[in-house]
Amino acid sequence: MASKSAVFFDRDGTLNVDVHFLHEIEKFRWVEGAVDAVRAVNARGALAIVITNQSGIARGYYTEEEMYRLHEWMNEELQKHGAHIDAFYYCPHLTDGAVEAYREDCDCRKPKPGMLLRAMKEHDIDPARAVMIGDAARDVECAERAGIRGTLYAGGSLLPVTLEALDSCGI
Ligand SMILES: [Zn+2]
Repeated sequence: MASKSAVFFDRDGTLNVDVHFLHEIEKFRWVEGAVDAVRAVNARGALAIVITNQSGIARGYYTEEEMYRLHEWMNEELQKHGAHIDAFYYCPHLTDGAVEAYREDCDCRKPKPGMLLRAMKEHDIDPARAVMIGDAARDVECAERAGIRGTLYAGGSLLPVTLEALDSCGI
């Protein structure tokens, strides 16, 4: 029996203000309430996991190393506020990407459910106590295809949306 609960967050447009193919720390801005939202997930004992399409890697706009640096920085910033992301899952692929190594019709680019399925397996997550929050229809579709709840974030503070999502699956 899977035992853990989790909130899966989309990254660009959900945790941070969407900037075209963001990879520079200096352009990163948290969405209103995002840090509080992550801390609320931590406080409820659920895993906070990022699920993000990063086709900019396949397009050759930035490297995986640059993305790792950004994710490390995000966690450093969160930790200053007593919050943390437990894991990051990303899809670097694109069917017609410019970088051959990432040119792939993969199973992980949202709305495909590969990242969620892998995260749930690797972290022993109970699908009944998991929810995906994202600003795009493909995030909700991805959640449904993975057999979990999906919540559309339509702007404003991310905190009430997250608290409602936590309540909706009894976390
Ligand atoms: Zn992929």
